[in-house]
Amino acid sequence: MSLAERASREKALAAAARTVDACRLCAIGGTRTHSVFGEGDPLAQVMCVGEGPGETEDRLGRPFVGRAGELLEKMLAAIGLAREDVYIANTVKCRPTLDNGHRLANRAPTPDEMKNCRPYLDAQIELLRPRVILALGAPAAKSFMGERFSITKQRGQWYEGPLGIPVIATFHPAYILRQTGGAMTEVKRLVFADLKAVRQRLDEPIAVEPPAGVEQRSLFD
Ligand code: URA
Repeated sequence: MSLAERASREKALAAAARTVDACRLCAIGGTRTHSVFGEGDPLAQVMCVGEGPGETEDRLGRPFVGRAGELLEKMLAAIGLAREDVYIANTVKCRPTLDNGHRLANRAPTPDEMKNCRPYLDAQIELLRPRVILALGAPAAKSFMGERFSITKQRGQWYEGPLGIPVIATFHPAYILRQTGGAMTEVKRLVFADLKAVRQRLDEPIAVEPPAGVEQRSLFD
């Protein structure tokens, strides 16, 4: 894709990021340090969607920059992708927190927070139109495939996502990090299988639609 297309997407993404930064639809808009819009290649073929920013992401205003982010980078590297090659976003752009009296702890986003933030994620998908969406963890997967989606039973399968974009879910890197011993080895094996499905999809030739009004003919017509 052209440099002009890259520049135009960068501009549109920056404008959307400013809108997100000004958003106060949820209470967490008032407790967060930074909004975490998302980042990556505006021409990326893969869009990774996580749950929501944690403490480090909130402090730095960037997605997946803590321990889970380090693992995500290793996962991507396993299928020949660098962090810079993909686009990384979350279902919510502000850190969901719980005040436990001493400090703010991370918590899962509520359905209302995810609903409020959804138009921003949809705008990112619309602008990027990636070839593949990789949903990281159950909340992101459910946000695309519905509440009944089971990450343990249905990960690694392709679903039709927004704008007809193929979506596949795998375990969240933070979940992998919480495993130990043989359980971790097994979860990593499953995640690698899911990632290989992504690689395979990317390696398939891109179907090119003939321009409107032009009938496709056989070589022998
Ligand atoms: N976990 C997420 O789901 N998103 C981040 O950005 C970081 C950790």
